[in-house]
Amino acid sequence: MVQPPSSYRGRLAPSPTGYLHLGHARTFWLAAERARAAGGTVILRNDDLDAARFRLDFVDAMYEDLRWLGLTWSEGPDVGGPHAPYKQRERLPIYRAALAQLHAAGLIFPCTHTRKDVLEAIGAPHEGAAHDDEPVYPASFRPPAGAPLPPLGDKVSVNWRFRVPDGEELVFDDKRFGPQRAVAGRDFGDFLVWRKDDAPSYQLSCAVDDAAMRITEVVRGADLIRSTFRQLLLLRALGLPAPDYYHCPLMLDDAGVRLAKRHDALSLRTLRAQGVTPAEIIAKFSSEP
Ligand code: GLU
Repeated sequence: MVQPPSSYRGRLAPSPTGYLHLGHARTFWLAAERARAAGGTVILRNDDLDAARFRLDFVDAMYEDLRWLGLTWSEGPDVGGPHAPYKQRERLPIYRAALAQLHAAGLIFPCTHTRKDVLEAIGAPHEGAAHDDEPVYPASFRPPAGAPLPPLGDKVSVNWRFRVPDGEELVFDDKRFGPQRAVAGRDFGDFLVWRKDDAPSYQLSCAVDDAAMRITEVVRGADLIRSTFRQLLLLRALGLPAPDYYHCPLMLDDAGVRLAKRHDALSLRTLRAQGVTPAEIIAKFSSEP
């Protein structure tokens, strides 16, 4: 009997800011595996908004490395699809419309404080200290609730933040880690939605795209669990449906350190040049917790 097409839509969302390392590749492989097991569709989205670290050769390398590993996608920048464009840089009007919606609803505010101001205000160690996440924005920096907002202007030249509902407990059921909870204003604070260099933040672009591309399950690294709460708030504020979330345990190197792109020794390219095969890499992925 012919199976009806599955409604599962998953995505691979690499950022072309370095060569893919083993940790990222494992997340993408898991995302592809979950889509395959569900008989669903895989979308490739090029998360190319980081202007400072973007490089065109990383874009080509990222497609090539993923294909070398054996991953495929049926929608993406290189193959097209019903939700094109699949490059975030080409989707700016979509993000800008979402920003205007948040502005009209009074859910964001302009912020001229620097990261240093924020760290000082909360008594946190200065730049240079390892921050895994954005520091909690001090409530004393907020304009009063309901204060009239300045217009966004044609070109945004100030940071805009989302005002989180202080004290609200947010919950989601992670498909890997089970129930997750965070309290807005305590575990994370008012977060960036648009930057003063006139570019959307990761939180905004990701939430908007996951909804626009009809993603049913987001598979990504466990380092983004806190971001999921922010994105759930944005989706709710924008009246958009939330996908399911499956966060992958992070891969550690032999010394127990999290793999990061700067571990060049563990980039797929380096491993490939050393003669490691895709089958060997996938065997390693399958044996990870
Ligand atoms: N482009 C992001 C990254 O590479 C994706 C994050 C996500 O999956 O939401 O970290």
